[in-house]
Amino acid sequence: MIEAVVYSFTSMPVWYQVVTVAVLGGIMGSFLNVVVYRMHTGASLSGRSRCFSCGETLTPRELIPFFSWIVQKGRCRYCSARIPVRDFLMEIGMGIMFVWVYLTATGIFGLFFSLAFVSVSVLIFVYDLVHMIIPDEMVLLLILLAAVFLGYEVWQNDAFSIILPHLYAALLATSILGLLWLVSKGRWMGLGDVKLVFPLALLLDVTQAFSLVIISFWIGALIGIVLLLYPRVVYLYRRYTLGAIAKTTRYFTMKSEIPFAPFILVAFWLVYLYEINIFTLLY
Ligand SMILES: [Zn+2]
Repeated sequence: MIEAVVYSFTSMPVWYQVVTVAVLGGIMGSFLNVVVYRMHTGASLSGRSRCFSCGETLTPRELIPFFSWIVQKGRCRYCSARIPVRDFLMEIGMGIMFVWVYLTATGIFGLFFSLAFVSVSVLIFVYDLVHMIIPDEMVLLLILLAAVFLGYEVWQNDAFSIILPHLYAALLATSILGLLWLVSKGRWMGLGDVKLVFPLALLLDVTQAFSLVIISFWIGALIGIVLLLYPRVVYLYRRYTLGAIAKTTRYFTMKSEIPFAPFILVAFWLVYLYEINIFTLLY
């Protein structure tokens, strides 16, 4: 069934395929925006979309991905409240990611798995930037997806032992971050970051998992230096997220907390997609 649908879709002109996939990505992006706004904030996840300022119910016309935000110049049509650039970037970003995955994924399983994994990891990326916390449900969803991935590998290769390197990788990455979390008493990273690295490393092998940890620290150090040198970036960041940082930090100092999950996720995608290995990088 799915194969027949995919087959007839792939026989359409390429521009048609790309536009359709981009729109689906945009719709996913606007759904993820709703989750970021509503999950664990006291608002319910169900119900019609409303303006967060005046509470007016939004019609389909105001929910078209990409276009609504541009046509309304980033403001609510009823009360003119500003709709954060973040919402628009999420839709654009997810549109681009979906197209990218669509053009690079191999096989139907690979395609749907990658789309799901990208969606959940982008959700965690943005949620952590905004709320400085990673909900357990999202990590659990990644663990489920990783389990599906490993199950598929076992089924394809008909060998259970194929998952062992992935398990070692996950244990290694989780224990390194767990140890750093313990030693620093949670100052360098949160427990959520320790949990997050487990499902990510399940998709890698041991050297890749080690690379993931090291690269996430490199990215973190780099961003930290940039923020110390250019405190103005924090202003832009606060305007952009309208989130936790806005309440806790006025100026960026050595003591400021920055969310760590985005670094882990960027490092993961670099290692996973480009097979970056720090051992070969250093020679
Ligand atoms: Zn409004």
